[in-house]
Amino acid sequence: MAIEESAAEKQARIVARARQEMEARERGYREQALKMYPWVCGRCGREFNHKNLRELTVHHRDHNHDNNPPDGSNWELLCVYCHDNEHSRYEDHIAAASGHADGDPQQQGATHNPFAGLKDLLGDK
Ligand SMILES: [Zn+2]
Ligand SMILES: [Zn+2]
Repeated sequence: MAIEESAAEKQARIVARARQEMEARERGYREQALKMYPWVCGRCGREFNHKNLRELTVHHRDHNHDNNPPDGSNWELLCVYCHDNEHSRYEDHIAAASGHADGDPQQQGATHNPFAGLKDLLGDK
């Protein structure tokens, strides 16, 4: 029991630290983007001020949150609604491109061979 607790605590600590690091990084690029761009949604044109600024989000044009060039070329300020919209369109696009939303085709190939047993069916014995 004591071992399970400490393992859980350790995991919680790792998760908490990863979250802190991610939040710190997000604050970093958000601040930069807000300094760089006017506080207007790039889709619907809604304007923002200090009171409602938390509804204005920083979108990554290539959807890669690790891609934060200092010139801001990968950032776009979007209101939360337009940002949601942008991501659901992107996810639809990904799902359509891969044929289906979930499942790993490589793993399926490894665990399921459609030709397994074919020899038996053909009676090649
Ligand atoms: Zn908007
Ligand atoms: Zn985004």
